[in-house]
Amino acid sequence: MTVQFDNSYARLPERFYAAVNPTAVAEPRLIRLNAPLASELGLDPDWLKSPAGLAMLAGNSLIDGAHPIATAYAGHQFGGFSPQLGDGRAILLGEIVDRHGRRRDIQLKGAGQTPFSRRGDGRAALGPVLREYILSEAMAALDVPTTRALAAVMTGETVRRETLLPGAILTRVASSHIRIGTFQYFAARGDIEALRLLADHVIARHYPDLSGREDPYLALLKAIIAAQAGLVARWMLIGFIHGVMNTDNMSVAGETIDYGPCAFMDAYDPATVFSSIDEQGRYAYANQPPIARWNLTRLAEALLPLLADDQDKAVALAQDALDDFDRQIQVDMIAGFRRKLGLASEDPEDIALIRSLLETMQLGQADFTLVFRRLSEDASPLEDGRACRDLFGNPAAFDGWEGRWRERLSKEDRPDEVRQHAMRRVNPLFIPRNHRVEAVIEAAVERQDFAPFEELHAVLSRPYDRQPGREHYALPPAAHERVLATFCGT
Ligand code: AMP
Ligand code: MG
Ligand code: MG
Repeated sequence: MTVQFDNSYARLPERFYAAVNPTAVAEPRLIRLNAPLASELGLDPDWLKSPAGLAMLAGNSLIDGAHPIATAYAGHQFGGFSPQLGDGRAILLGEIVDRHGRRRDIQLKGAGQTPFSRRGDGRAALGPVLREYILSEAMAALDVPTTRALAAVMTGETVRRETLLPGAILTRVASSHIRIGTFQYFAARGDIEALRLLADHVIARHYPDLSGREDPYLALLKAIIAAQAGLVARWMLIGFIHGVMNTDNMSVAGETIDYGPCAFMDAYDPATVFSSIDEQGRYAYANQPPIARWNLTRLAEALLPLLADDQDKAVALAQDALDDFDRQIQVDMIAGFRRKLGLASEDPEDIALIRSLLETMQLGQADFTLVFRRLSEDASPLEDGRACRDLFGNPAAFDGWEGRWRERLSKEDRPDEVRQHAMRRVNPLFIPRNHRVEAVIEAAVERQDFAPFEELHAVLSRPYDRQPGREHYALPPAAHERVLATFCGT
């Protein structure tokens, strides 16, 4: 088997990366291979499972055509700027052009130290690898742009965190791993030539329609702003909390990247935070839109030298582009909530209707995912035989809201079945609930039992479908099952 690598990033000047090989591990063992994704990439799943394929996924042998590099980037972490971060434990093997003609990065996360490792060991623990596998594949099934998981392998080695933990490597697939922080890295060095090369590379790779434009760099900024607005709106509509929206974790391709302490909200509360390192709630659910804009402002600053010779003019152009972010994300979120409520037309009162439902949910501590799902199930049996109002601690308040909603629905002439069908396609039944993810990790880490991981993965691959016998996966945690914090768990 040959892998047809074509490494466009490695053809950029040497100051964009450090060439570095993965460090071999003791005893690689495959946990899971994503066969459909392998096929999409033009890779033979059977070969990837063979000893030679496994050696590639573990970083134990380099396959012809790979050009392993760790990329350089900077970033604002929790608001503070680090001029140099870079891939400290992720190694890009190379790029593949997939069956649809899309260029994809193949990266090993946890493949050993690089010149950017600082004091880190370059490795990943099994728990976070399984978490990223489950969450990123669930997001893909939920139609959210995301990096993908091609494979997870055990290394046969331990990593030292608070305790000794089994080590693992995730093979991550992305449209690219270029971040806002990549632009910041060169801007912080005043390296305008590199900034321009990077911008040209991103345009050619992610926004090819913009090449040849008179103002390609302003158009690029606008395109990234639009992609991020669309992405974060998607997160808000499914209750996803990224957890570490540092500028080095924001992809310029508009994909969800860097699954650390991310989690889905159960009961609706805009202040929800899971990440144990986010003490100020900077990356709380409701803060995600303003934080995305803050991050994009850092991108705009980095791009200023390319926007216009006159810096006052550049600032004015960037400001205009950034102002569009608020409008776009609002439009996307309102349109998305309309779809979630089964509304096909637009009415100025809809915004108040949406807001009122969210307020009622917050007061009644109702489960975000199940409320929308049950609104779409009202004519048929529910997954646990209960009605939407049972989700609310304040059912009378819900009844009042429901009356307004039904009245609004009656202004549309869509038949109930058509509306319900449409609602079930945007309101998932199954999301990766935190308590389920934690249970899967515990079984794998404590008992080397991967069956719960396989089952959860299978359930989440069809998030919109009823799955008889698996209804319990749809339910929120009982009080004693509730997970209050997720750990960055490198
Ligand atoms: P993250 O919090 O995952 O976005 O990572 C922030 C920075 O820390 C990046 O530069 C990572 O490459 C680096 N890093 C995280 N974990 C490790 C590790 N175990 N070894 C080396 N570098 C790491
Ligand atoms: Mg990161
Ligand atoms: Mg990370």
